[in-house]
Amino acid sequence: MNISQLAELDPELYLTLQGELGRQRQTLELIASENFTSLAVLAVAGSVLTNKYAEGYPGRRYYGGCEFVDQAEELARARVQKLFQCEYANVQPHSGSQANMGVYFTVLEPGDTLLGLDLAHGGHLTHGSPVNFSGKLYNVVSYGVSPETGRVDFDQVRRLAREHKPKLIVCGGSAYPRQIEFAAFKTVAEEVGALLMADIAHPAGLVATGHHPSPWPYCDFVTSTTHKTLRGPRGGLIMMERDWENPWGRVAPKSGRVKQVGELLDGTIMPGIQGGPLMHIIAAKAVAFGEALKPAFKKYCGQVVKNAARLAQRFIDRGYNLVSGGTDTHLLLIDLSDREISGKVAERALEAAGLTVNKNMVPFDRRSPFVTSGIRIGTPAVTTRGMGATEMDLIADFIDRVLLDPDGESTALKVRAEVEELCRQFSLYESL
Ligand SMILES: *Cc1c(COP(=O)(O)O)cnc(C)c1O
Repeated sequence: MNISQLAELDPELYLTLQGELGRQRQTLELIASENFTSLAVLAVAGSVLTNKYAEGYPGRRYYGGCEFVDQAEELARARVQKLFQCEYANVQPHSGSQANMGVYFTVLEPGDTLLGLDLAHGGHLTHGSPVNFSGKLYNVVSYGVSPETGRVDFDQVRRLAREHKPKLIVCGGSAYPRQIEFAAFKTVAEEVGALLMADIAHPAGLVATGHHPSPWPYCDFVTSTTHKTLRGPRGGLIMMERDWENPWGRVAPKSGRVKQVGELLDGTIMPGIQGGPLMHIIAAKAVAFGEALKPAFKKYCGQVVKNAARLAQRFIDRGYNLVSGGTDTHLLLIDLSDREISGKVAERALEAAGLTVNKNMVPFDRRSPFVTSGIRIGTPAVTTRGMGATEMDLIADFIDRVLLDPDGESTALKVRAEVEELCRQFSLYESL
């Protein structure tokens, strides 16, 4: 069934879905955490596997009839192990946040100390924000970036680690335009006896294809989403390079055997924090991991990085400040703190012109999180549509024109028409 068949069955929702499909087709999607999955991923995410309860893991489920969903989960696991060269993988987390919760609940007790990147400096809510479970349950200490370089301030990380002795250090973030410095974090973690977790939710696709350094052998745990640069269905993932005997002496109740860390992680995800896994999504993850193992995906990720570098250069040419002075990933952060326009106004003006971005705090932001002084721009989605250097130059021009005249109705209309023309040249989901 395709969407048009919904027209009679559920006319209200049909209009909503048509509206969203039209929006995705006719606008430039520049939100760094978004992407367009393949039709195969979409089809499997919308498949009959959504009907199946499969609490547990392959071969040891709480329910009967799991023969085929077991195959799907085993495929997803085997492919992701190959993709990231790791021995352990759990593909059940419903989201990136639940993958992080899975690691935290396994290694931390409430009140334990966690050292993570400040949200305003590019971190994620789950890295210790006070409004998130992580900030409520744990004693959170936050590190930031240096005002001069816009990169992680390792003097500060080391000082905070020595002073607060965190049990877990978290590296990675949602708005960090540079490569995650796994080796430097490991040096600090080792010095203070902390475990190290990398959250590669954003650059996962780049990591898988060698366009970003690997977290191995430095990180004890790696978590990720599957829907950002990895271009799969919305979901989460936990990995370890090698499974190992848990250092906390937790034993299996019957045998008295000391459990592997992987068993503990599996148990934290289910039954600890989740019930039935989303088997349709796990199968769609398998499809996406299979796609990511192909040479075309490696080429795609290379283009994502090239496009981001090109965009960054065009903004620098036009006199914009970028956090850290540029990018080596799929995203850039325009720092508007020296301009009158705020992130909030910029986001709204760009949306009216058909360009979707998100406002974002910049390090040392003087504006509130609801206003902000930055916008975050990412190239994964437009690169999936097939756009390259020529289009990046056009996009930088569109954004510049809107930011210079955020209230101008005719500018918005004119840019919008050019955006739509560009989008027509790079069709999306034609068969839907
Ligand atoms: C997006 C993101 C997550 C959370 O993913 P959800 O699937 O939205 O819960 C976690 N960590 C980082 C760094 C992210 O960017």
